[in-house]
Amino acid sequence: MPAYLIIALSISIAAAGIIGAALLLVRGTNDDFAKAEGELANLALSLQERVDGVFQSIENVLRDVVGRIPQNCLQPHEFDGFAASQATKAILVGATHCLSQIVRIDLVNARGRIVGTSNPHPMADAIYLTDTSYYRALSIDASLLLYLSEPRRIPATGKKVLSLARKITDTDGNFIGIIVCTVDLAYFEKIFDEHLKTRLLAITLYRRDGTILAHRPKSERALGRRIWRPNTPLQRMIAKNSATLIRDVSWIDLKERLVALHPLANYPGGIAVSRPVAELMAGQRFEARLVRFFAYLMDIAVEAASLLGLRHVRTGILRAASESYLSRHDMLTRLPNRQLFLEELARTFLVSQRVGKDFALHLIDIDRFKDINDNHGHGVGDQIVQSVARRLRDRIRKSDFIARIGGDEFAIIQRPIRGRPQVLDLIAAVQAAMKVPVTAGNTEFDVGLATGVAVASTDGKTSTELMKSADIALYAAKSDPDSSYRLYDADIKDSRAERRALEGALKTGLDNREFELFYQPILDLATNRMWGCEALVRWKHPAKGMISPLQFIPTAEESGLIGPMGDWILQDACSTAMTWVHPLKVAINLSPVQFKCRDVFASVKKALSVSGLPAHRLVLEITESVKLTEEATSTLKRLKGLGVSISLDDFGTGYASMSYLRSFPFDKIKIDQSFVRGMDSPDSRAIIKATIGLANDLKMSTTAEGVETEEQLNALRMAGASQAQGYLIAKPMPREAISAFIEQTQPAHEAGRDEPVPERAVA
Ligand code: C2E
Ligand code: CA
Ligand code: CA
Repeated sequence: MPAYLIIALSISIAAAGIIGAALLLVRGTNDDFAKAEGELANLALSLQERVDGVFQSIENVLRDVVGRIPQNCLQPHEFDGFAASQATKAILVGATHCLSQIVRIDLVNARGRIVGTSNPHPMADAIYLTDTSYYRALSIDASLLLYLSEPRRIPATGKKVLSLARKITDTDGNFIGIIVCTVDLAYFEKIFDEHLKTRLLAITLYRRDGTILAHRPKSERALGRRIWRPNTPLQRMIAKNSATLIRDVSWIDLKERLVALHPLANYPGGIAVSRPVAELMAGQRFEARLVRFFAYLMDIAVEAASLLGLRHVRTGILRAASESYLSRHDMLTRLPNRQLFLEELARTFLVSQRVGKDFALHLIDIDRFKDINDNHGHGVGDQIVQSVARRLRDRIRKSDFIARIGGDEFAIIQRPIRGRPQVLDLIAAVQAAMKVPVTAGNTEFDVGLATGVAVASTDGKTSTELMKSADIALYAAKSDPDSSYRLYDADIKDSRAERRALEGALKTGLDNREFELFYQPILDLATNRMWGCEALVRWKHPAKGMISPLQFIPTAEESGLIGPMGDWILQDACSTAMTWVHPLKVAINLSPVQFKCRDVFASVKKALSVSGLPAHRLVLEITESVKLTEEATSTLKRLKGLGVSISLDDFGTGYASMSYLRSFPFDKIKIDQSFVRGMDSPDSRAIIKATIGLANDLKMSTTAEGVETEEQLNALRMAGASQAQGYLIAKPMPREAISAFIEQTQPAHEAGRDEPVPERAVA
């Protein structure tokens, strides 16, 4: 290789590196300041959440200690003795060791005297805390429950601490004393240090009055001082107690700083994170000069590189520049991704608060995108996402911001806005964008979009809250068949939150054995005796009383809780059937989800072996919603192999009852209540007759459900139904009642097998 080539090559490569860096700087300079704002705000937010959590865990410990004080000790005379006891000391020492940030815990009586402590050293003299701010505040102000003290140093150890004090009252709310926790402030400093990348960044935990509780980097002057000077913007913003970005002169280093403030959510204090403004500016001036210089070098290098035909050198240059772009953009649509969107949203929020301009957040979701992907493949799905992205982008203003934040989810920050009509205009434009079908993979698709909108000035105090509001609105829009968009308002029910709550309650309900099986008798029409019972689950909610399965089975199915619940139902019903004096059948409902999330065969086998119930006494009811895949069919066949019967529930209500019936040799068909209820109409009667005829031909038996009148029962007898079930015979009843019912209505097992059952007893 000739020498000139080697030299040229190395110059070019060196230049390439420099140019790459320069390109990054060019990108950086534009929004460095705005980026710093976003970063400070995000850091303040995340520290606020962390510090709130630390205080919360301390408060939980205090609450726990107070919760352990017996009622009779919550009286002025009893309290002192209780607090001074060895048992209480053990509780206090234990609580102190729960959390490393707790230095000690003291119990103080109503007169301000320490009467119990976790401190191992015995108290020589009575110690009164009547002079402390928290004693004064909590003993005087009846409405105050909790107090965060100013910081102080423990003289013996030099430790910086503060006191978190909580009022103790009796059941009538009378002041009994205080529980005080001494908290090590070094704990917060350690948290702050994790984020202190540069010494120029400053982090402060302040009390709501501005008193500095903890400050990083270390400053001897800071502790106990106020974060603000009187009558400064910072003082006013702290007094406002909302998240903000401001520029103000810090008294700590007398520099103008960019400050992000975030109040704590549950405690009277907040977090301030700041950087000197000059440093941000200086960086920009220096970068600008550097960029000009690099641009000059770049010209030469690119010239040299292309002269030598080294195109790959240029590729390398561009790659360096694009790496930061790639991590924050979606490659399919070239739109900003979720990460960049969240940063932009936080920034827009703070800027809008500062300058007082409103904006709207639109979350947009493609209807039934999963179906498109499943039925037409991901290639088609991708093309549709691209078209939607392109059409949406064409409909927003330059000042707006659009991002792809999920597989089929887009977000638009519409900024600024001057009122609701403007928001509605954009919603209409978004809907109009999809009027023309999208062509993908030779097929035309009518693509629908659902939109949820939240407005910054009214629908959230932080960007996170705003996002949540828009999300709730989107969910409401998606579940509303009449409208494709929703604007957030406080009355929209957060149905997802409700469902999550129900899920949680179901879970604890299962742990706490709040579920119970009821049993409904089924009458054999040929013999007029009981054929067996259907097990029907109930939820005995501690507060709401008995809840119907129709209200909780769907949620149990969606959350997967039907798995363990179904296992319990199988075992409990089989065991109960074993307690009956007659060997009647027990019918148990299986959910389609159990076939997906459970080994149904194993569950049934276990229930049989644990209870000892003979398989031929067990009947499993499934509906058409159980997809008869190869796997499900084989499970059912193996169950039949054991001797278990399979019955087809709610027959006639599905779309394809006939073909479903053909795909598996069911033992029994349950005719749905809707046909029985309509038995006075000739149509329903004809359906019932045909069903019974069909079942006979297929050697299946039939149970008619929902029999409520004597006429219905007679008509069913005439039509040849095998069994009947319904309120006329008996309502579902608890375990004890069904045992008694069986004993009363069935003739003794051994004797008089063939005697008919007295009418009165079964009705
Ligand atoms: P299903 O399997 O069709 O159960 C029959 C339903 O009809 C029961 O409602 C029963 O109380 C009711 N019923 C019985 N006779 C009459 C009558 O004469 N008139 C009227 N109007 N209704 C009558 P329930 O107990 O509220 O159960 C509703 C549904 O919840 C059941 O319908 C079943 O799909 C589901 N379910 C109940 N228990 C379980 C269970 O243990 N597991 C599963 N997976 N689903 C269950
Ligand atoms: Ca059933
Ligand atoms: Ca049914």
